[in-house]
Amino acid sequence: MRAVVIRRLGGPEVLEIENLDPSEPGPGQAVVEVAAAGLNFIDTYQRGGLYPVEIPFIPGLEGAGTVTAVGPDVTKVKVGDRVAWGTVAGSYAEQATLPAARLVPVPDHLASDEAAALMLQGLTAHYLAVDTYPLGPESSCLIHAGAGGVGLLLTQIAKRLGATVYTTVGTAAKAELSKAAGADHVIVYTEEDFAERVTEIGGPRPLDVIYDGVGKATVPTGLGLLRPFGLMVAFGNASGAVDPVDPLDLSTNGSLFLTRPTLFHHVADREALLARCDDLFGWADDGLGIRIGARFPLEAAADAHRALEGRVTTGKVLIEP
Ligand code: NDP
Repeated sequence: MRAVVIRRLGGPEVLEIENLDPSEPGPGQAVVEVAAAGLNFIDTYQRGGLYPVEIPFIPGLEGAGTVTAVGPDVTKVKVGDRVAWGTVAGSYAEQATLPAARLVPVPDHLASDEAAALMLQGLTAHYLAVDTYPLGPESSCLIHAGAGGVGLLLTQIAKRLGATVYTTVGTAAKAELSKAAGADHVIVYTEEDFAERVTEIGGPRPLDVIYDGVGKATVPTGLGLLRPFGLMVAFGNASGAVDPVDPLDLSTNGSLFLTRPTLFHHVADREALLARCDDLFGWADDGLGIRIGARFPLEAAADAHRALEGRVTTGKVLIEP
């Protein structure tokens, strides 16, 4: 079976396709024929070494497909089930051998490529909007990279929960996508100063929460836009890892809170994973738009990484075996 293997850390060129022997499922494992794997920014951090991983490894934490074999003691899934996953490695492959407890049954109303597109970024948007800062009709939030994978889903979920949503995007075309997802105020932050625009629109410090997956380039400025006791959620590093924040900056900006959450803790047990998927799949059946912005074949995984890091993608990028 063909798979992308990383044998040394580095740029997109380290993603190389290889022919591997298919593995037998061990205890607690299932083998899945992969219909689609999802590309996420974390794949680039792991490839480049920002997030440590043991090499060699098959990248890709997200995907969907059909179970073709199960190991001893597996009761959660059976051969023939359509399943999806969002936090286990090995997805850039024709076949993946995965822990059955991390596989979620895909409902009939969701195609496999849509399920692959929804899992990691959708679960992230879910915990950010429901738990990290529970949004409601009185809330005002800023979502950076509003036309990205997390951004489009988080915007729609925030609007479902009744919040006022500001977004930033890199281009006019992305602004159209962000507006279509429901954003109230869309700022092209490559052309205008986002802090000035937010203040112009909402007055001084109008935000309860900022969801910032861009990181280094935007987190420090955002502190000046939060109301007293507001929350900065630094959840990613698309522009680079955030420089250390002086606790005194939190104090002088209004006794602010800063958090750096990760999805892994929010779906650590199967009950949490299934409960979040339940909401997400329900919303998908009720109009939550899943934008698949680009599809790349397995052998072009490096091009997919270049596109994501080059800021030219929107919504979900899939890698299809
Ligand atoms: P996106 O589809 O949002 O792509 C990243 C976007 O970031 C780009 O399209 C671009 O949008 C923007 N960006 C701004 N500056 C840069 C830069 N210098 N280089 C590249 N992109 C830049 O990616 P994802 O939806 O996969 O992830 C979004 C963020 O969320 C990432 O930081 C990711 O690590 C994080 N994340 C965190 C999780 C967690 O649990 N902590 C889980 C999932 C994702 P634009 O052109 O509009 O600025």
